[in-house]
This record gives sequence, structure tokens and C-alpha cells, in this order.
Amino acid sequence: MTNSIWFDSKGREARTEDSPVKEFDVAIIGGGILGVSCAYFLSKRKNLKVALIEQKCLAYGSSGRNAGFVLRGIETYYNQCIDKYGREKAKYVYAFAEESQAVLRRFVDECKIDFEYDPCGSYVLADSIEELEDLEKSYELLRQDGFGVELIKADPTDRGFYGALLNGGDFGIHPVKLVRALAQFSKVELLENEPVQRIETQRSSQKTLIHTNNEKILAGKTLIATNAYTPYLEPWFGPKLQVARAQMLSTYPLKNEILDRVCYANYGWIYFRQLKDKRLLLGGKRNTQLQEEVGLADIVTAPIQIALEEYLTDRFPEAAGVGIQYRWSGSMAFTSDGLPLLGKLPQHPEVYFAVGCNGHGMGYSTNMAQQLVALALDGKEPSVFCANRSSLKNSNSTLCDDVDGP
Ligand SMILES: Cc1cc2nc3c(=O)[nH]c(=O)nc-3n(C[C@H](O)[C@H](O)[C@H](O)COP(=O)(O)OP(=O)(O)OC[C@H]3O[C@@H](n4cnc5c(N)ncnc54)[C@H](O)[C@@H]3O)c2cc1C
Repeated sequence: MTNSIWFDSKGREARTEDSPVKEFDVAIIGGGILGVSCAYFLSKRKNLKVALIEQKCLAYGSSGRNAGFVLRGIETYYNQCIDKYGREKAKYVYAFAEESQAVLRRFVDECKIDFEYDPCGSYVLADSIEELEDLEKSYELLRQDGFGVELIKADPTDRGFYGALLNGGDFGIHPVKLVRALAQFSKVELLENEPVQRIETQRSSQKTLIHTNNEKILAGKTLIATNAYTPYLEPWFGPKLQVARAQMLSTYPLKNEILDRVCYANYGWIYFRQLKDKRLLLGGKRNTQLQEEVGLADIVTAPIQIALEEYLTDRFPEAAGVGIQYRWSGSMAFTSDGLPLLGKLPQHPEVYFAVGCNGHGMGYSTNMAQQLVALALDGKEPSVFCANRSSLKNSNSTLCDDVDGP
């Protein structure tokens, strides 16, 4: 969505090129889970002046529009992950997400702010015999690699599935409350309704000058956490990120509690959970409209919403006649090899980025943010998610050498 001049409600005088500049040690661009997680890790460092610049409001992007699952792993099953990346890298990727989960678990006690943390575990449900076989293979390999998991050879939800993996360490959260809690805890200086229009490097200082509609910000280090919006901010990302939309719906409260865990089915193409207030959330079916479900348009479409309602009717007779209360969508960034990108912009010496969580940002972002902060402040290079890895098409980051293993 673009910003017309007429919604500039701040009543300030129009900025000119010589308006005063605000100075910060670190500026984060993007107020989603990744941006606020950066703020959280930066708050652990001493005496840093940090700004968080957000075009609209906290969690305006997909961090405020997801299902709130914090899962280990990525969309493929562990056996497929090994086929695709090799054993060591697959292990790294799953352990990486477990570390992300651990950060958030610790944050529950540390922050004392309620973000509806629900340590319910997840079911990965098999929609077919083939999927059950993949679950069985995943189960064996996960156990061999030391990951906690259970295999259930019958349908634990009694809805026609063939079996399930139970990941006891997975959990649910209220994503908007979590994003706000991380920002609040970090005490970051929040600049909302400030879309960044342009970034440039100040030759004399090597610092980054960030232009928003109303401010000029000079930052020693700049962290980009704008995910699906990133190619619009910095065209260099255009060939590196594919932007896809996902849609969800929520019913009004059902009569009874029918699900006790967050659930993924059909290789992650469908997902559902029931909130404590008994509303049922259902999302997915993007695979039925892959060509259409692209870009940043903040819309819901009839084909996907109808497919979701049909699924609801099929699998959840308890929802009959209850009615749909909300329908929404969000946009995500995907990479050519399915792994996130961490790196440094070749054209700006002090601009770093972490983007492309491939639809799993609630599970990955905290550890991504930890690595991004370590890269920008300590020069600690990322390994598997390095943006210059050889498995990526169109990669052109100058920071790290080609990386093939963890
Ligand atoms: C329907 C749906 C369901 C999902 N379910 C799950 C799930 O259950 N579990 C999971 O792990 N993941 C899920 N995801 C994916 C997850 O939501 C994302 O991976 C994650 O939120 C990405 O976080 P982010 O902070 O990187 O990006 P975002 O949340 O998109 O944040 C980027 C922010 O940058 C801001 N911004 C953009 N451009 C500018 C600019 N020029 N200037 C200033 N600010 C700017 C945006 O307004 C936005 O707030 C789902 C996604 C969708 C759409």
C-alpha cells in the first residue's frame, strides 16, 4: 500500500533537505518480529541509542497477520530437508529454530508481559499414506539426530488424518502482543508512520542517512528487517526474494474446545488452531492458487476463502453455522533455496539485513535477529544463512564466502 500526502496527519511543516538530522548508533527498519527481536538483542548491549523505524505501526506486516505458531523446522519435513540440504545443514536448520524457540521461552519469564504463550506442542498431520511415510522417515531421522519428537500412528484429532508427528516443544503465541512486548521491553525509540523512502551512505562518516517522509536519520549501523517489502525499499533484493500472499480466516467461538495443539497438515499447505476463547483459526490453501497469490496487495480472494470454508465444512462439523468473524492476508518473502538471507548490502558499508524466512518467521526470527546483531556489531559472519551461499540464485553479497555447510 502506498502513502498519499493527504494522510500525513502530523501537522508538521514539510521537511526540506536541510531539516535537522536525528542521530542513532543503530537504526532498525521494519517493526515486525524480526525488527523488534533486533531491538531486544541490542537492548542487551550497553549504551546504544537505537531507533526502530516502521512505515505504519508495529506488526503491520505479516507478523501481525500470521497463525501464531512457533515451530521447529521449515516447511519441508526433516527427511525432505536432509534430501535438499544434506544432513549437517538440515540439523543446523532445526537446531537454529530450537534456539529461537528457547529465546522466546526465556522471554516469557523475563518480560512479565502477557503475549498468550501457549506451550501446547504441535501436530504435523498426514493427509495421505505417502505423507504418513514421510512422517515416519522424519521421525526416525529426527530421533537419530537427537531431536525430541513422537510418532502417532492414528489420527489424534479424529478428523480423518492418517497419523501425526507430535513436536512437544512447539508453541502458540499472540503474534501482535509478542511484537509489542519485545518492543516495549527493549525500550527502543519507536518511529511509527515513517516509511523509509531511501537510504544513502554519508561519504565522510560511512554512516547511513535514512530518509523517511518526515525525518532524516543518521545511523552508525542500519539493520533491514522489512521482509516481503524489502525489494520495494532496495531493488537489489528484487531477484533474490519472491513475494507471496497467504490467507486465513477465523470463526466466532465454537461451543466446545476441540483442539489442544497447533496443527499443520498436507505438508504445511493447511494449518489450524483453536484459541483459548474457542475461536477456530484456519489458513493455507495457497498451493491451489500459486500463480495468483503473489505480491503485497492486502486483499482476500474468493478462490482461497471458498477453499478454506470447504475445508472447514469437511473437517470441522463443529463449526457449522458458527460463522466467519475475520478474513485476512499477509505477504511473505521466499528465497530460491528455501532458507533465509543474512548479510550486508554490497552498495552500503554499514547496512545489514535479515529477510526471507520462507513463511516461518515466527519460528526463525529471534535467532535470525541474534545473528544479524552479531554480524553488524561484532563482525561475526553467519554460516548457513549467509546471503552469499552458492545454493542461491542471483546472490551478490560481498560479505561472506560461499558457504555450503554449517
Ligand atoms: C497468513 C500467514 C500465516 C503465517 N503463519 C505463520 C506461523 O504460524 N508461524 C510462522 O513462523 N510464520 C508464519 N507466517 C510467516 C510470518 O508471519 C513471517 O515470516 C514473519 O512475520 C516475518 O516477520 P518480519 O519481521 O521479517 O516481517 P514483517 O512482519 O512483514 O515486518 C516487516 C515490517 O517492515 C515494515 N516496512 C516495510 N517497508 C518499510 C519501509 N520502507 N519503511 C519502514 N518500515 C517498513 C512493514 O510495515 C512491516 O511492519 C505466516 C504468514 C502469513 C501471511
